[in-house]
Amino acid sequence: MSKPASAPEPRCPICRKPSVEAHAPFCSAACRDRDLLAWLDERYVVPGKALNEDEG
Ligand SMILES: [Zn+2]
Repeated sequence: MSKPASAPEPRCPICRKPSVEAHAPFCSAACRDRDLLAWLDERYVVPGKALNEDEG
């Protein structure tokens, strides 16, 4: 009897499905985009700045 000595399958960090090589470490382009958008969203947050300037 031989145990399969393979590394644990990589999983998509977004939805936990098995990742696809073409989109690694994600399972699809959709999840990759989602992660990218979330990352950009965080960058766009500007703490302490209010949109309260005089409107002319
Ligand atoms: Zn996914």
